[in-house]
Amino acid sequence: MNGHALLALQQLDSELDHLAALERRLAERAAFDVTQATHRAWKSERDQRSAEVQACLAKITEAEAEGAAIAKKRARLEAQLKTVIAPREAEALMHEIQRLQSDSETIDDAELEAMQQQADAEAATQVLDDREPTLLESINQARGLLDSALGQLLDDRTDLHRRRTMADAAITADERDLYAAMRARHDGMGVVHLQGRRCTGCHLDLSAMEADQVKNAPSDELPECPHCARLIVR
Ligand SMILES: [Zn+2]
Repeated sequence: MNGHALLALQQLDSELDHLAALERRLAERAAFDVTQATHRAWKSERDQRSAEVQACLAKITEAEAEGAAIAKKRARLEAQLKTVIAPREAEALMHEIQRLQSDSETIDDAELEAMQQQADAEAATQVLDDREPTLLESINQARGLLDSALGQLLDDRTDLHRRRTMADAAITADERDLYAAMRARHDGMGVVHLQGRRCTGCHLDLSAMEADQVKNAPSDELPECPHCARLIVR
């Protein structure tokens, strides 16, 4: 077993893992996400205002149609009133005309209210539209900063991958299998070394006797940490 080659591979993989975690936690990514969320909220409010304007327009169209129908009916009744002789019939017609007048006023009020709502919603829409360029600019700026931060990390990652390819080429198929199994079993770090008597995997100290056993193990063997069972390279 070429312990030093395995340890070199392990150190590169640990650096790559660290880099991946950095990429996920980038402040620039969080800032970019915030600008996008702000724009989504803006879009939702803009859609809502737009729907309000459409609903008002529909109400106004409906009121116009109802008003026209009432005016037509009223004109017909007024013409009829001129030809009626019987007072009771005339009274009934006048009563009906009054009722139509009252309906017409109610519809006019509703139409005016809808027009006011439409104007308010359009004004709010305008305020929102005025804000959008600033929001888009923030997104672009944040995206630029994120791309630049990722670009910096990408250079590091490319370099690490290049070195990893070389480190990987230096081990045998059996060593590769062992390494992969240990890495999987020990949360990404299967091969460690001793710092003094301390295991760099679990950070526990070996006793003086255990440390001696590690140091005196046959050169083709990789002893295990007595605490965490990771492979120790001397
Ligand atoms: Zn250990």
